[in-house]
Amino acid sequence: MDLNQPVLICDQVNPILNEILEKNGLQVTYEPEITPEQIAEKIGNFEVVIVRSRTKITKELIEKADKCKIIARVGVGLDNIDQAAAKEKGIRVINAVEGAMNAVAELVIGLMLSLAREIPRADREVRDGNWIKKELMGSELKGKYLGIVGLGNIGKRLGRLARSLNMNIIGFDVVPIDEEFSKEVGLMKADLDTLLTSSDYISLHVPLLDSTKHMINAEKIASMKNTARIINTSRGGVIDEKALADALKTGKLAGAALDVFEVEPATSNELAALPNFISTPHIGAQTKEAQSLAANVIAEKIIQILRGVI
Ligand code: NAD
Repeated sequence: MDLNQPVLICDQVNPILNEILEKNGLQVTYEPEITPEQIAEKIGNFEVVIVRSRTKITKELIEKADKCKIIARVGVGLDNIDQAAAKEKGIRVINAVEGAMNAVAELVIGLMLSLAREIPRADREVRDGNWIKKELMGSELKGKYLGIVGLGNIGKRLGRLARSLNMNIIGFDVVPIDEEFSKEVGLMKADLDTLLTSSDYISLHVPLLDSTKHMINAEKIASMKNTARIINTSRGGVIDEKALADALKTGKLAGAALDVFEVEPATSNELAALPNFISTPHIGAQTKEAQSLAANVIAEKIIQILRGVI
């Protein structure tokens, strides 16, 4: 039996999502540029609301969503949806954790290599007509200690990829770490302080919570090796950016790479001026494969919920 519920898609998503939903009879309204004011006007008509990261589904919007059964995020983080307000109104909030796992982990490998070999700078110099080969003495990832903070989906995928590059993996999580994974990558479990003082590369894969806000601050940075490099592809706010900028300026840290920032878009961030800093504009999950996988997962979840299967 076909479904026929009205669905509002508020952000740009992989077309496969619309296709699957429409094939199952759902009435899809696709408005990838919709404004908060426009959402407020029409959210009351929809049973399913779908977003990526641009649209914020606030308490005020949820209060107007009288017919809504599902709010879906085509991605991982749910920080753009007021989950407490949704729960109070009896609305299911779903996401697609599977989509981004490999894409983000591969980006971290790319950022580590970029830091180790100064690839962005090398490229800029060649484009400017400068052949600075002698200045570009890099180092290898092989044999280095990678500290992974947060061994959930992405942290574990990164551990596996980094192990295949012969890195040594140190891990910290607030929940017990999967034994099978630990054996597979030869994980050295450590508390956060030991991880920070022992690692050559530190990669953060935790959600942004009160307990993780500025978990990497001036004091923690002071405990790291001067040669350490830190990568954050999780959420802006997990690192205190001011403390990071100070450490990069004074040589307390060798380098840093951020895909996520406390304020996005981060188009006027003081870090961008520092030579030992590289950045990407929140592209962790921005691959064709990740977007297609997330769209498929979300479409299937919506259909199964509306059919009463899950
Ligand atoms: P996940 O929920 O699978 O794993 C997060 C892990 O962090 C869990 O194991 C949890 O126990 C652990 N954790 C929580 N608090 C901690 C703490 N204080 N110290 C240590 N560990 C702690 O999540 P995931 O799918 O691996 O995603 C990780 C992060 O990456 C999230 O912040 C997510 O929003 C972000 N993300 C970013 C992008 C991007 O585009 N850059 C894409 C997808 C996900």
